[in-house]
Amino acid sequence: MSNTQGFSHFVLCASTPDKYEETITFYEAIGFQRMLDQCKTKEDNRHKVWMKLKAAAQAQAADLVIKITLSEGNTFLDPRQSNGESAVVILVKDMEKTRAKLDIMSVQCQSQHDRLYSCDPLGTPLIFYNKPHGLLKTDPRDDMCDEMRHFDPGKTHRRIAILTSGGDAPGMNPCVRAVVRYGISMGCDMYAVYEGYQGLVDGGERIRRMDWKSVRGWLHVGGTLIGTARCKDFQQRQGRLRAVENLVSRGIDSIIVCGGDGSLTGADVFRAEWPSLIKELKDNGKITSELAEKHKHLTIVGLVGSIDNDMALTDITIGAVTSLHRICESVDAINTTALSHSRAFVVEVMGRHCGWLALMAGIATGADFIFIPERPPDDDWPERLCKVARRHRDLGKRKTIVIVAEGALDTSLNPIKADPIKNILSERLGLDTRVTTLGHVQRGGSPCAADRILATVQGVQAVRAVLDSNPDTESPLIGMSNNKVTCTPLMKAVELTHEVAKAISEKNFARAMELRDPQFSEEYDAFTASTIMDDTTSLLLPEYARLRIAILHIGAPAGGMNAATRTAVRYALNRGHHPIVVYNGFTGLVRGTMEDETWIGVDGWTPRGGSELGTNRYIPGKDVDMGMIAYQIQKHQIQGMIVIGGFEAYSALVELEKERVHYPSLCIPICQLPATISNNVPGTDFSLGTDTALNAIIFSCDAIAQSARSSRRRVFVVEVQGGKTGYLAVEAGLASGANTVYIPEEGISLARLQSDVKHLMALYLDDDPDKSEGRIILRTETASNTYTTEVISNILKEEGHQFFDSRTAILGHIQQGDTPSPLDRIRATRLAMRAIEFLEIHTNGVLETYHNQGKPPPVELNTCHESVAVIGIAGNGVRYSPVRDLLVETDIKNRKPRGAWWYADRDLVDLLAGRGMFTPEAQARIHEHEQDEEEERKAERRKFERRYS
Ligand code: ADP
Repeated sequence: MSNTQGFSHFVLCASTPDKYEETITFYEAIGFQRMLDQCKTKEDNRHKVWMKLKAAAQAQAADLVIKITLSEGNTFLDPRQSNGESAVVILVKDMEKTRAKLDIMSVQCQSQHDRLYSCDPLGTPLIFYNKPHGLLKTDPRDDMCDEMRHFDPGKTHRRIAILTSGGDAPGMNPCVRAVVRYGISMGCDMYAVYEGYQGLVDGGERIRRMDWKSVRGWLHVGGTLIGTARCKDFQQRQGRLRAVENLVSRGIDSIIVCGGDGSLTGADVFRAEWPSLIKELKDNGKITSELAEKHKHLTIVGLVGSIDNDMALTDITIGAVTSLHRICESVDAINTTALSHSRAFVVEVMGRHCGWLALMAGIATGADFIFIPERPPDDDWPERLCKVARRHRDLGKRKTIVIVAEGALDTSLNPIKADPIKNILSERLGLDTRVTTLGHVQRGGSPCAADRILATVQGVQAVRAVLDSNPDTESPLIGMSNNKVTCTPLMKAVELTHEVAKAISEKNFARAMELRDPQFSEEYDAFTASTIMDDTTSLLLPEYARLRIAILHIGAPAGGMNAATRTAVRYALNRGHHPIVVYNGFTGLVRGTMEDETWIGVDGWTPRGGSELGTNRYIPGKDVDMGMIAYQIQKHQIQGMIVIGGFEAYSALVELEKERVHYPSLCIPICQLPATISNNVPGTDFSLGTDTALNAIIFSCDAIAQSARSSRRRVFVVEVQGGKTGYLAVEAGLASGANTVYIPEEGISLARLQSDVKHLMALYLDDDPDKSEGRIILRTETASNTYTTEVISNILKEEGHQFFDSRTAILGHIQQGDTPSPLDRIRATRLAMRAIEFLEIHTNGVLETYHNQGKPPPVELNTCHESVAVIGIAGNGVRYSPVRDLLVETDIKNRKPRGAWWYADRDLVDLLAGRGMFTPEAQARIHEHEQDEEEERKAERRKFERRYS
């Protein structure tokens, strides 16, 4: 047992008071100090002392803590000690001094090689040692075990290193955390290479063994804590040769690289060259033939850490969404000053060859114009820019926002820069125009929920890919497609990525757009169709196909409801329709509280949270008279309806569809845009508002965890919303590093609570006593009627004894968030456009037929059930699901779909919180604690018996 192996505590038990005192004196003499505060709790008047050997007194080791107790009859509590095969290993700085101290106490000791063997007064074998690297094992068989691990051709026991390289990206730390922890849980030895490839070349302290605790508290930290660097040495063979030597000498032959295309190219070069580098080291006598044979092949797995989202074969890269958050926060802030002074702003964002950030920021902030490298504007762009800005101003806009990617080009490949755009706006339109270059702000800050989750699930997959690899498989790149983690050939992805730059340089812009993920060009069209007031009339439908479209909100507010309404209104106007907004849901509809909406009327709605139209939970047919609804629809000649909301909206559509047989005016296309933080609408992977809610929860949890840490040894039971679905608890649990989650899908039992108490106790016993940790548990509000948040917290408080206490935090409506997140705004825009398209698809035929016959349009525009549908997100695409078809996959009683894609993440929460990963010391101490409790019970019983016998 050694602290260098990550074991920081051990427990000794004296059976008599004399032995107890003698043992304390002994350990004090060899340098341990008492930690009095640890045994002063009110209820704890038994003999017990905590002692600590400070790291300073040891050779390059962490603090070592011993607990010595007096407990009659128990001599060995550590299961590893009881079989007599192991000893306590103490690293010392000065072996001679230690020997002298033992001599003074007349304690027998024996020197062998560079070790000193002795026993404490309890007979515990002790080994003193002063060379940390040679001290990893105390059982001689461990040496063999380790060697065997090394040779094991099986899937576990690999030595895997992770490094971050190239530009830093928020999410790299969650990625390293997941890789390290998942790797350890799979039985691998995990290493981190500090300072990117430079660390590989330098070796030494820059390649560090990581244990479970090394990555604690990393989830919410931006940038990369293991550092990154651009390394020239690694681009030379000589540098790579040193890297191989540094890796092989540690038995590492698997590397997970998180970086951009440059870093991943470097990794692949390294892998290809590895056999020849190994041969060279062997020929030069730097490594033995045996080592060369053992490490014939290098395994490389790539993860893309890049804020630009510029890698092919993956929909999204680690860091891109957080960067978008930073941009949107900045542009939202700029909006207010622009509005005040009626100014124009040209905002430059990052993206050398990729316009993803600029495009998404344009959509999410409602910018007037964007410039991206993949889609250069026509040569007359200055005129077009001025026309658009002028028209928007004429409509009543007080601000003009232009977003330009740093790599934006015109069709002749001349850069389009912020300053010339500014000059055009000020000189030609007389606008007071300013330039803001966002720069490195975009890289910074705590990763958002989406990046934490993405980095975590991809990190886990990267370790799996290492374990699944063999010398014949191509190096994989862990990506994301259709909301699923993917493994694609790394070099293919890098080649395709380089092809974008090549296509742009060859002016093949269609190819450049094609090489981006499938959503990219759809999003581009969404931006132009919804943000820019169309002047070309190219989007306009013929007169007869234009619809009167009602838009209303229902259910609880959710981030993105306003953004969806804005896009629906603007796109509808660009198509020639008549958008009518209805206030206060279906109750407003029956009262006829509605009005025609204008392009400028919804200006500035994208970043607004809540519901501008007002919303409530009243459902047609149940709470609101269906006849009145049908009457108002007919009276206002409504020919299509968009209902934005959660499960209430879904229930409303089910009722409206059912009642069509009685009310012909309900035979119009009706669609739902799912918007609820609970994510419980059938027919969609995500509802609007879920991403905003996750971010609100995780940032609250970060603050709560900080408070818990400061208060020392505190567990917070945090109650989250979600109705009867555990989506928020699971995903926020993954993103905030929660200890566990209680969700309605699993319920809560006494046995589960007992096991959780034990787990928490093990964690706190394993903590450094001076650095207590704060921990959180997430509980969905409806997880159990009996085990409420308060009850669970009280149980934890009671059972945690002196080890930890507990508090509750009920997040409530904070979870709806303030400003909708960029992802929710973008999803809202996309879905809203598709909603208008849906209404058109389900009316075009009949309108055209009546028009051709010279008749006015009928009241019953569409009677088929497919015309009442949920517009949902399905992977990369948008899916129209008729509500009648969805009923079979709906759990009506619990108001949710029967399946849940996110449930696959459930076990990861517990796994990454270290369940089942207790150190033997922690287990021994729990065992000891249980025995203490048993003894107390017996003593109480004896007292009782004495009193009444
Ligand atoms: P990014 O990974 O963000 O694209 P870079 O292109 O700067 O960043 O690459 C990061 C590092 O990867 C470089 O400093 C270099 O050490 C290494 N690297 C890049 N390309 C190669 C290569 N072809 N061969 C060896 N190493 C490379």
